[in-house]
Amino acid sequence: MPLPIEGQEGLTARTRDHFSRIIPLMTDTSTAKSIAASAIDARSEGLIALSKDIWDHPEPGFREHRTAQVTADFMREIGLAARENIAITGVIARINTGRPGPHVAIMGELDSLIVPEHRDADSASGAVHVCGHNIQIGNMLAAAVGLSQPEVLATLSGSISFMAVPAEEYIEIEFREGLREAGELEFLAGKQEFIRLGELDDVDISLLTHVETSELTALRPAVSLNGMIAKRVRFIGRSAHAGGSPELGINALNAANLAMQGIHAQRETFKDDDHVRVHPILTRGGAAVSSVPANVTMEMFVRAATVEAMEDAAAKVDRALKAGAMAVGATVEISTSPGYLPAKFHEGLGELYDEVVTDLIGKSGVGRMPHRTSSTDMGDVSQIMPTIHPYVGGARGRNHSDDFDITDWDLDVIDAGKAMANTTIELLGNGAVRGREIADNFDAPLSISEYLAVVRGYQATEKWSGSSPSLLGDRKGSGPQIPFSFS
Ligand SMILES: [Zn+2]
Ligand SMILES: [Zn+2]
Repeated sequence: MPLPIEGQEGLTARTRDHFSRIIPLMTDTSTAKSIAASAIDARSEGLIALSKDIWDHPEPGFREHRTAQVTADFMREIGLAARENIAITGVIARINTGRPGPHVAIMGELDSLIVPEHRDADSASGAVHVCGHNIQIGNMLAAAVGLSQPEVLATLSGSISFMAVPAEEYIEIEFREGLREAGELEFLAGKQEFIRLGELDDVDISLLTHVETSELTALRPAVSLNGMIAKRVRFIGRSAHAGGSPELGINALNAANLAMQGIHAQRETFKDDDHVRVHPILTRGGAAVSSVPANVTMEMFVRAATVEAMEDAAAKVDRALKAGAMAVGATVEISTSPGYLPAKFHEGLGELYDEVVTDLIGKSGVGRMPHRTSSTDMGDVSQIMPTIHPYVGGARGRNHSDDFDITDWDLDVIDAGKAMANTTIELLGNGAVRGREIADNFDAPLSISEYLAVVRGYQATEKWSGSSPSLLGDRKGSGPQIPFSFS
């Protein structure tokens, strides 16, 4: 991958001046790490204060305008040139060392969740950071502080991008579909949009540190996560007086109830190793209790560990939805969207990260998170480049819930930031030998163009009549275009 050699692209003039004045040092990686650590320690109060400030001002995906501003301001304060408004709210700062080598992306996620029951939830929106993404912006910026030190950069080859990415949580689907209709985005998640916009075209390796709800002092890469397909469903019935003449109506709520029973009846067919999770919610159950419900809507995720299992479960779900419609003679509209691809993280990169963590906090902090049945758009990134997604302890309660809390800000922001900085020093130090080895030997399951074809293939809408199914079946969308498989 060719890199420009004009040098230090992405640094502001002040930092560039300073950088050009120092003679490239023959610093070994351990000296570079200790310079980075000292710089991070010197700013630790500010980094933790910023992470707490983001906790206090939560914003859900594609609405993170204030969070993005805080992030960009901090980047500029430490001498980086920040590009803003990427995929609506994303921010990227890139440093080019001026020497050829891989391009490493250190990511953090900008968005909050919505859990109104949490004590710190925003009173108007219900937004709250109960997935801990606020600490990710802190640890990504901590890594930026360490790696942007001229004495550290002088020892590295290649490029580093610090990416604040919008919208990891796949929520507010109607709002995001509105953004899509307005032409502001195509996919409903931030990293998918970054990929579509070409922001990851020349990135070779990516890292992101997520919090886990445990109070262990540990930084443990995940092995794999489920992928996910999202569905929005509408049952269309016929309204009538619910007491006086229900025989004239078609009850769309009964169709939805039967569909959910049909989905439950599939569960014995899901193989244990596929880790299938199907979880629907009803978003509209009727309009007035005296009228037969004629417009009932649902949203659901169909998750599984492999693409094959995701597609198998999704086909069974569609069958169950149609069975519900057919039983009462309703019509069902099924809108399917690409969720996330299954995540498969890079073991060699994980082992390099383990070395760094052992140095930083000791062997007791090393480990692996076994397969997780949640999903993330880092899964999509993991299908196109070597990626790790370590989990850091220092939180308690249940994730995505009313009792989630960050308990160890030092671990989550400062140590996690140092771990990503040191991993990058290992990858890009010594002429980037280790980074090249990982990037060059990676056999990507998908190229970026194949990836885009696959996720676009999941986009489909279907309208199906349960009263005359053979006449009205009308599916738009062709299914995934590239046959591929993951184990
Ligand atoms: Zn989450
Ligand atoms: Zn999360």
